[in-house]
Amino acid sequence: MLEKITTLFLDMDGTLLDLHFDTFFWTNHLPKRFSEIHDLPAEIASGIVAKHMNIAKGTINWSSTEHWSNTLDLNIIALKHELKHLIGYRQGTLEFLRTAKDSSIQLVLLTDADPHVIALKEATLCESGPSLLQFMDKIISSEELGHLKENSSFWPSLNKLLSFTAATSSLIDDNLAVLQNARNYGIEQLIAVSQPDSTKPQHNTEPFKSVNHLNDLIPVS
Ligand SMILES: [Mg+2]
Repeated sequence: MLEKITTLFLDMDGTLLDLHFDTFFWTNHLPKRFSEIHDLPAEIASGIVAKHMNIAKGTINWSSTEHWSNTLDLNIIALKHELKHLIGYRQGTLEFLRTAKDSSIQLVLLTDADPHVIALKEATLCESGPSLLQFMDKIISSEELGHLKENSSFWPSLNKLLSFTAATSSLIDDNLAVLQNARNYGIEQLIAVSQPDSTKPQHNTEPFKSVNHLNDLIPVS
């Protein structure tokens, strides 16, 4: 599926890494710890977290650790640290990255995660296995650009920061809105991930082609 590509953009959560960490954090761990820290009944705490998630949706605040620490009056990175045993590579990711690294393709990590979360994930992965960031020629967080990847301003801003040709670029991402935005900008090869969270079933990624494990994309040329 990956042919004649000069730049490959790779999403982090749900694409290279198991989305289970993030899903479980936002739906279970954060509401529970928010309730404990502020001594609130579980239902009230869940309601407050859900309300703020709704407000932040689609904005850069969504992925800002500073925003969440301030809004919920807690240390969001410390809470993520409590769940770090759930941070891990998806099956096939390392084999794929090793192959891609040996090609002449420019590899770019393109994530909405802010630099604090990238650092936490990288440090955790390095505790028990290979570094993720070692494979990347460039690491870009949406925070640098001020727009989430699903925002139409994202790609024009990115092209000012990084040299790439849309017609020979590819993006692999588990978020269909992000893929659609990249398609609108002219990114040529778009690939979805059919099972971003290892604890959930595969999902329909139409109209985008999908892979489950990234090593299914080998050979890379
Ligand atoms: Mg993702």
